[in-house]
Formats: sequence, C-alpha cells, structure tokens
Amino acid sequence: MTVYANPGTEGAVFSYAPRYDHFIGGEYVPPANGQYFENQTPVTGAVFTEIARGTAADVDRAVEAGWKAFPAWSKTSVAERAVILNRIADRMEEHLEEIAVAESWENGKPVRETLAADIPLAIDHFRYFAGAIRAQEGGISELDHDTVAYHFHEPLGVVGQIIPWNFPILMAVWKLAPALAAGNCVVLKPAEQTPASIHLIVDLVKDLLPAGVLNVVNGFGIEAGAPLASHPRIRKIAFTGETTTGRLIMQYASENLIPVTLELGGKSPNVFFEDVAREHDQYYEKAQEGFSMFALNQGEVCTCPSRALVQRSIYDGFVGDALTRIGKIKQGNPLDTDTMIGAQASNDQLEKILSYMDIGKQGGAKLLIGGERADLGGELSGGFYVQPTVFEGTNDMRIFQEEIFGPVLALTSFADYDEAISIANDTLYGLGAGVWSREATTLYRAGRAIEAGRVWSNTYHQYPAHAAFGGYKQSGIGRENHKMMLDHYQQTKNLLVSYAEGPM
Ligand code: NAD
Repeated sequence: MTVYANPGTEGAVFSYAPRYDHFIGGEYVPPANGQYFENQTPVTGAVFTEIARGTAADVDRAVEAGWKAFPAWSKTSVAERAVILNRIADRMEEHLEEIAVAESWENGKPVRETLAADIPLAIDHFRYFAGAIRAQEGGISELDHDTVAYHFHEPLGVVGQIIPWNFPILMAVWKLAPALAAGNCVVLKPAEQTPASIHLIVDLVKDLLPAGVLNVVNGFGIEAGAPLASHPRIRKIAFTGETTTGRLIMQYASENLIPVTLELGGKSPNVFFEDVAREHDQYYEKAQEGFSMFALNQGEVCTCPSRALVQRSIYDGFVGDALTRIGKIKQGNPLDTDTMIGAQASNDQLEKILSYMDIGKQGGAKLLIGGERADLGGELSGGFYVQPTVFEGTNDMRIFQEEIFGPVLALTSFADYDEAISIANDTLYGLGAGVWSREATTLYRAGRAIEAGRVWSNTYHQYPAHAAFGGYKQSGIGRENHKMMLDHYQQTKNLLVSYAEGPM
C-alpha cells in the first residue's frame, strides 16, 4: 500500500502552480478581464490553485491562434504528426505517477484507477491515433479511361472541444488525439471543476506541438463554453456533458451550421439472467463484480450501470451476495492505493446525489445499503464522500429514470427475457448496457435488442481505443474512439480530373 502525499506538501510527487492562465498560441495568457476562480480538491475540500476565468475575448484570441497555426499544421505530413502524438504518449508515460496523482487530487477518484486505467488509456489513445492516421488511405474512382475522381481526407480547421469533470484527462484526450492526428487545430475548454490536471499535461507536452495547434481556454459553461460553441470561426464542436447542455450546444452550432459530436448522459441497464447463478464458480464471482461496477469512479461515469435488472428466480440469493460484496468496498483517501471508492468531484455533485437519495426514499424505493454521506474523519471530513448505495424499486421511479451520477444503484427484478428487454429499453438514454449470461444466444439476442451504443457482454467498463463508443437516443450523436472517429474530424475533398486531351 502507498499513500501519496497531498500535492504541494512534503514528500509529494509534484506541486500545482498557485495559478493557471489560459494556454493560447503556445504561451500562458492571463484572462482578458483579469479574473480568476478558485479550484477546490474534493479530497479535503481545500482550495489549491486558481484558474483564469475565460470569456468571449479569450475564446476569440484562441480561435485566432488556431487559424494562424492551421496552414502549417494541416500540411505537416501524417508521418510527422504521428511521431508527435507518439512523443506526447511517451512523455505522459514518463510522468504517469504525477499525472495520476494530479487527476485523483483534483477529481477525487482513487489513484489506483488513475494509475492503472485513466492515464494508461489516455496514453494508448495517442498511440492508437498515431497508428490510425498512418494507415488511413484515400480512394480513387475511375470514371472512364482518362477521367478520375480522387478522394482526399482533409482536416476541418479549428475545432472546439468542451469536456466534463468526471474523467478530465481521458475525456480531453479522446477528443484531442483524433483531432490533432487528422491535422486540425484545437481550442479546448476543460470543465470548471477540473482544469488544473489538463494544464499539467499541457505543461508536459507544450514543447512537442507547434504554437497554436493546441489552445486551452478555462472557465465556466456560459462564459467560456457558449462563446466557443457558437464562435463563427470554428468548424466543429465536440462536447461531452449533460444531455440538457448538449441540446444548447446543438442550438449554438446550428447558427453556424457546423457539425457536432455529443457524448451525453446515460441510465445504463445491467441485466443478470438466471443461468448466471447456475453454479457458484469463478464466472458467478465475475458477474457479482459486474453488479458492483455502479460504484466505480464513484458512479460518475456516463455509462455507470446505474440500473440493475436481476431475474426473479435468482434474485434473493444473487442480490444478497452482491450486498455483502458492496459492504466490503473500501472507501477512503483517494491518494491511498488501497482505496476503491473516493470522493465525488464537487460539493454540487455531492448535494445532487444526497437529494436523489431523498427522492428515492420519498418515492417509495427500499434502501438496501448505504444512503448517507460518508464521514471519513480527519482531514477527509471536509471532502465530498458518499456511501455506495442500493435502492430496490420499479423502473417508473425517478431514481430509475434520471441520471444521478453517483454511486447509487436502482435495482429491480424481471420475470423473463422479454420483460428484461422491455425494462432495459424503457429510458430516454441509450449509452451503455451490460448483459450477463452463460448462454451465447442470450448474450447475442439481448445485446442486439438493447437500444444502446455499447453493450458489454459478461464484462463492463472496458474502454479500449479501438472499440466505437457513443450513444443511441438522447445519449448522443456520433462516436468516439475507433478509427471511425477520424471521420468526425475530416471532410472529403473530391478532385475530379480529366486527363483527356480531346473535347469533354
Ligand atoms: P455539463 O454539461 O454541466 O458540463 C460539461 C461541460 O460543458 C463543462 O465544460 C461546462 O463548463 C460546459 N458547459 C456547461 N454549460 C454550457 C453551455 N451553455 N455552453 C457551452 N458549454 C457549457 O456536464 P458535467 O456535469 O460536467 O458532466 C457530467 C455529464 O457528462 C453527465 O451527464 C455524464 O453522463 C456526461 N458524460 C458523458 C460521457 C459520454 O461519453 N457520453 C462521458 C462523460 C460524461
């Protein structure tokens, strides 16, 4: 077990700067209005740095810097761009520990996850798109012997990217890697709750990218995000966040008729068929682990399996075993490598979760475990901790229909396959789902029947760079990850050429 020291204290692997400006045109730039806001750690509740408070004037400047860099960057060979992305990955890998601690300190998530998953996945993402862009080919159609149509992939120009606070670095990299690989310049707006760890990355890699290729404007949604999404000179906006904000982003984008990709909310079903409990073997244990995945990342995951559906014939035994397992989840200091569940990312998020616990109780759901704020004592008393919680109820309840974004599970039962699919699909969302069965046919049929962009079968919460990720229904538009992502950052140039010397 290792307990990392708080950043900035004795023995810490790194310290945050006391203040972070915007990063525009290759340099740190103070905000046009001179204002800063405080950044608080959810681990203890302490303020640890302050951040430039961006406005439209800062966004203008960043978009301008992007266009200045675009002609050269877009013409840089794919081989060279791939080398740069690989160097970024290498640099991040060399600093894995400090980035992981930074991410945990700022977001509240356990360092054992940032060390093993969040940051390694982000590193791999740069490597994947370095390879994908090298392997991309255009196409030629022969119209007749002397006439051909060439199809070139061309970058869009300067693109805007707005990200949430739940996986600050990974969500940024999911967008940055394909955009940069494809030859675009970027203006990125981090979430106001978690901008500092992104600046740590910028600081580490800024010498690897030409000035203006990557620009970061900090700030709040209305003050900095809206001017970015509605800026007349950006050529695309990519957004990850709440479904309600996604609607606004589409409205802004419609003014300038630019493409959007939206990765939004979810209320993902996790379905356990009765054959799971046929034996109490290794597979059963795996399914039990799958059930408790709602608490991973404190439930602050867009694909959180926040609705569990268990077949009635195995319900009591399976749920009983699962509750025993949930009771053993170790909650504690996120900087302790033994901790399995850390702090919620902000006080607002903590309050929202607690209010949903009340909604669950008042709405008639039965509380099976948890249901309270967790007071971990000492310096952690000021942090934002919630007990892993399970409510039993029915799918029409608010806690089954609305995204809570916390370690709160809504549990129900079903009689047979048809009822399972009907409950699973009875939601506005369609981002993720889990299906658990020993029968390949059940997995296949349920996987195809559930209306979600990603259905995990006999696993959950895996996010490889080369598997497409995105939402059905109100969970989003477009995909992230996978080489198909390049399509969202490129446009097709068709050059139709006649080599004939005679008349047309
Ligand atoms: P949010 O929508 O409040 O904020 C996300 C980002 O949008 C932030 O950077 C914020 O400053 C900005 N923003 C807010 N209002 C804006 C506006 N009017 N114009 C422009 N920008 C604006 O979401 P959040 O609370 O930060 O994140 C949690 C949500 O993100 C959850 O709903 C979760 O499901 C979703 N999420 C989805 C995915 C996915 O891939 N589908 C991944 C992670 C999180």
